[in-house]
Amino acid sequence: MKLLKYLSLVALLLVTGFTYAQEEEPEERKPGHSNVNRFKQLYEVFSTPNVYRSANGAPGPQYYQQQADYVMDIVLDDQQAKINGFETITYTNNSPDVLEYLWVQLDQNVREKDSKSPLIEGSGAQPATMASSFVGEHMGSSFDGGFKIQAVKSAKGADLGYTINQTMMRVEMPQDLKPGGKFSFSVRWWYNIPEHTIDRARSGFETFEDGNRGYVIAQFFPRMAVYSDVEGWQNSQFWGRDEFALPFGDYEVNITVPSDHVLDGTGVLVNRKDIFTKEMMNRYNEAKKSYEKPVIIVTQAEAEMASKGFTRSSKTWKLKAENVRDFGFATSRRYIWDMMSVKIGDKDVMAVSMYPPEGNPLWEDYSTIVVASTLKSYSRMSFDYPYHKAISVHAKNQGMEYPMICWNYGRPDKDGTYSDRTKYGMMSVIIHEVGHNYFPMIVNSDERQWTWMDEGLNTFVQYVAEQDFGEWYPDAIAPNKAYPSRRGPAKKIVSYMAGDQDRMAPIMTKGLNTYNFGANAYSKPATGLNILRETIMGRELFDYAFRTYSQRWMFKHPTPEDFFRTMEDASAVDLDWFWRAWFYSTDYTDIGVKEVKTFYVTSKMSKEVREMMEQRGMKESDLPPLVYLIDEDSEDFEESMRTSTLADVPTLQAYIMDNVPADERASLKNPRFFYEVTFEKPGGIPMPIIAEFTYSDGSTKRLTYPAEIWRKNDASVGKVIASEMEITKITVDPDEETADIDTSNNSWPKKKKLGDFNRFKENVKGQ
Ligand SMILES: [Zn+2]
Repeated sequence: MKLLKYLSLVALLLVTGFTYAQEEEPEERKPGHSNVNRFKQLYEVFSTPNVYRSANGAPGPQYYQQQADYVMDIVLDDQQAKINGFETITYTNNSPDVLEYLWVQLDQNVREKDSKSPLIEGSGAQPATMASSFVGEHMGSSFDGGFKIQAVKSAKGADLGYTINQTMMRVEMPQDLKPGGKFSFSVRWWYNIPEHTIDRARSGFETFEDGNRGYVIAQFFPRMAVYSDVEGWQNSQFWGRDEFALPFGDYEVNITVPSDHVLDGTGVLVNRKDIFTKEMMNRYNEAKKSYEKPVIIVTQAEAEMASKGFTRSSKTWKLKAENVRDFGFATSRRYIWDMMSVKIGDKDVMAVSMYPPEGNPLWEDYSTIVVASTLKSYSRMSFDYPYHKAISVHAKNQGMEYPMICWNYGRPDKDGTYSDRTKYGMMSVIIHEVGHNYFPMIVNSDERQWTWMDEGLNTFVQYVAEQDFGEWYPDAIAPNKAYPSRRGPAKKIVSYMAGDQDRMAPIMTKGLNTYNFGANAYSKPATGLNILRETIMGRELFDYAFRTYSQRWMFKHPTPEDFFRTMEDASAVDLDWFWRAWFYSTDYTDIGVKEVKTFYVTSKMSKEVREMMEQRGMKESDLPPLVYLIDEDSEDFEESMRTSTLADVPTLQAYIMDNVPADERASLKNPRFFYEVTFEKPGGIPMPIIAEFTYSDGSTKRLTYPAEIWRKNDASVGKVIASEMEITKITVDPDEETADIDTSNNSWPKKKKLGDFNRFKENVKGQ
């Protein structure tokens, strides 16, 4: 009963206070507005769930995806640096739509002589240009790149009509392709392989000093475009930046290279017995049982010996891959090759490296253990690696990914020495590119449209994997040091978030159209996920939801909403506000302490309350027992209040005697200091307020107010902190985990800025 009465008084005071304020200062009428609440659900922004994609973020009951199977014969002409190819594509239409034509991607065409790609880039005269770029930009490149399509035929050998529009080829079928139907056709082509070290291509060859070449070959065959429920045909042109959208399929690829070359690529090598020497076979069998360190299959001495020769005879390497979205391979007579086994779940996976002697000693020491470590970390964060191997190939200046194989940079100086920068750059790019096996090779998002879905998610797990590596292989990194991750921690994104808004685009922008590609599509989404994991959701909820997304969409094509919806669906954390702020806007975080007022407890009725009471025609005896808090600026303040305690408030003591059982009274806190803390939020992003209170004895305590504290007032919120000890300092976001761009307002009392003269005096004193 008494509690009820007390509550009704609080309500009365609130109501009274409201009318009182209104009568004193009549408010000016403001115009109406629509719902601009930052916590509003994303209904209008998200696409509507349907039979293909469910509201929970999982594939819907009628989800479908197309299948493209390839049989290819590829011949590498090492003398001319050319590739000749013949492929048969079998396309299965699993969609409910009738297809009148097929779209095939011709990515090599960005290097055609008359490619439009360079024409969409604005430019200014540079004071210094790399000679290779200068030749390309100002002297008319002599390189004759692009696919030379020789024939497009039906399975029966009849010519098919086709139209090439830049990097896309439309193939006309004799009949429409009905739902459930299959269509087979063949393409014969060749192209000149670009020198990737000069041409900045994603694949091509590098010429070593001894004249031999190392080939890292990808985008080397006409590839089917994706047809889906969200895009129809994804035939957005390849301008050179936005990567690829590819359907899954089975591959049978026969690659003919000089017989003194070694080769590895996507898929199972089905004729290993014909290709490997006895020695290599023995070493390979040893590698299958080696879980601690790699076994060398082709030694440096053997690679250097092979590099001295040149043969016109050839060998055909036969590779078969099931359920992959692409195919890549690397080959040279100058490659060293090593492998080790890594246990993933109950299966053995082969971690593999291929590198020229130019990569040693760095590559022999680290590449394969980094591959193994990466597979373990990513498998823990998403799903067990489903393929039988993961290969890291060393190619100068490259960082590019394909199913089971990737190219990575990181080269020591000629004398074999290298800096920490080179070493960690190499390790990080290997973790990153091997990690791409998960995103987007298996969780097959549309890279052409959403760069962040592969680069951002992957860079986030890369950060986790880097930190794992540091823990698992402390000897491989400088002793007692944490792995020096470049991206992931919140404070590393601050300079980007605080940058020029005219040169910024939301993450939810097509990669081609963003500024500051690395920060926008890699760092910012990765950091956002890291903040969700460490600060907003916690590891347990985040990791479960992230694994759910990964497993729901492995070997499928997710969209951004599928990710956003799943993260909420699996965690019961409403994140619409976070997606809106971090992914759909260029807002930034800035939260601070605006003001702190100290209050003292008293039993003396303040003037303010007395006026309210009198205005309503009430007497003091009409009110229930009250406790008053008065700040030192108030006209009711008296010096004696500074030392008053709860014991000096008879109404409170009487209330406690009546309402709190005797055995519980001793456990009641006895606060003496009352602080009204006003937190301000100049930044647009709502974030939890992480407040650290420092007490007069030097001890500290942290309180985190969820981001939802901002739901009704986006600019500032107040909190009353009752404390038994005096608070000497309040710091917001003490560990810099929210990417707060301005920390000058993060603490109270404000740090005094010394004038120049004072600073000079301080310095003199210090010396
Ligand atoms: Zn990447």
